[in-house]
Amino acid sequence: MGTVKINPEDVFDVQFSCNTSTLLDPEEFRRQGHIMVDFLADYFNDIEKYPVRSQVEPGYLKKLLADSAPNQPESIEKILQNVRKDIFPGLTHWQSPNFFAYFPCISSTAGILGEMLTAGLNVVGFNWIASPAATELECIVMDWLGKLINLPKTHLFSGGGGGVIQGTTCEAMLCTIVAARDQMLDKVGRENIDKLVVYASDQTHFSFQKAVKISGIKLENFRAIPTTKATEYALCPISLSKTIQEDKKTGLLPLFLCATVGTTSTTVVDPLKPLCEIAKEYGIWVHVDAAYAGNACICPEFQHFLNGVENANSFSLNAHKWLFSILDCCCLWVKDPNSLTKALSTTPECLRNKATDSKQVVDYKDWQISLSRRFRALKLWLVLRSYGVVNLRNFIRSHVKMAKHFEELVAVDERFEIVAPRNFSMVCFRVSPLALQEKVIFVEEDQVNKFNAKVLESINSCGNIHMTHAVVGGVYMMRFAIGAPLTDYRHINMAWDVIRNHVNVLLKNLSSVASIV
Ligand SMILES: *Cc1c(COP(=O)(O)O)cnc(C)c1O
Repeated sequence: MGTVKINPEDVFDVQFSCNTSTLLDPEEFRRQGHIMVDFLADYFNDIEKYPVRSQVEPGYLKKLLADSAPNQPESIEKILQNVRKDIFPGLTHWQSPNFFAYFPCISSTAGILGEMLTAGLNVVGFNWIASPAATELECIVMDWLGKLINLPKTHLFSGGGGGVIQGTTCEAMLCTIVAARDQMLDKVGRENIDKLVVYASDQTHFSFQKAVKISGIKLENFRAIPTTKATEYALCPISLSKTIQEDKKTGLLPLFLCATVGTTSTTVVDPLKPLCEIAKEYGIWVHVDAAYAGNACICPEFQHFLNGVENANSFSLNAHKWLFSILDCCCLWVKDPNSLTKALSTTPECLRNKATDSKQVVDYKDWQISLSRRFRALKLWLVLRSYGVVNLRNFIRSHVKMAKHFEELVAVDERFEIVAPRNFSMVCFRVSPLALQEKVIFVEEDQVNKFNAKVLESINSCGNIHMTHAVVGGVYMMRFAIGAPLTDYRHINMAWDVIRNHVNVLLKNLSSVASIV
């Protein structure tokens, strides 16, 4: 071991920065807080100026920033200058009104301020006593939201079930798989873990596969049941039933089904009612993943998509996607909280307390993967209160209306086609083979796909708007997902112009089949 040399200046620095007023001086917090709010307000004002999809190359930031952390303090003003100069180019602007990629992750004033309040209070509510309001507010808002989307009473605290806010759907899936797994293994014996089988469709989000992988279930026992055009790529109950029967024949143990309301590729809805009935017959745990579309169910006209959910064991949606609640806010409801807490609880001596022992309280550490947890309920509470149900429904409906408008624009241009039914606020479309036939005599599906991929990259690399794609049933499609908080009809019309302009140019330059590739 070498001797550590102490620089007297460093010692002075340490003493200086240990002055608590530097860490959280209320007046300094007020000053810098105002600067930060102004900075963000200006960002929202100017957001249309930036290319929506970041145009930087990998490793760009290392070239711009210092090799090591600064020894001396730097001012917030200077840091924010660097944010604008160095960080902004490396952002894909998810809140831009011209962002139509993935699914939206919608900001709102109430959501941002809720996050700010959570960060400001910074309580760690792993159990009830660690911050009773954090737990109790979460129980209350989860019942509020559950009622709002018309979940059956059995899934709410008021009906013997209950809800928890987690970070992401993937975590919610993992927790419910583990609950189902332990419930089953308690019955059949731990040694049978390799016999457990989980079911989903080939359209189920890959976060489910990730959750299965972590859960210790054999990956060979993951059934991604193929879907077909005949059912618009929804999971077919007959296929499920057949797959389960085959597994039973070979002595495997059907455990878990993940059904989706609003798939990520095309927003298809799996038929919950018949799927849940089959699952019930075999004692399979059903989780319903409604990450994006579940939010629309605050409007009564979308609630029919949840018919059958009363027979599901668990249900989740991402309020950060389409309920204005800022990443991360995954709301999970379970019918039988005991199965969840049985699998996930640990109570070390240091966390023993009267309230827990009395069994009168919820200790949310037993409802999730990690121990520590943020007071996320605040932002959801702020969103629900600040906008009220009336406005929240109007926001959702306005996105759906804009999607209908975009769909109409696409439908009247015969060079384009809609390739999947629009259920919510996303339109799946492509340049049709017909448009290419004017240029190329014999058009193969693969060439249509390649041409559409070229169109999308051309659009994204110009930065005016941003979309992403999906491939379903061999068809490459562009996904136009509406929901950014500042998007209005003029942005939809502008986007359509941008799309058509790129297609015009690419079609014009197209002289032969070879030029598609
Ligand atoms: C976005 C999405 C997910 C992934 O959610 P995470 O919260 O990132 O795990 C899962 N399922 C569906 C249907 C989604 O749309």
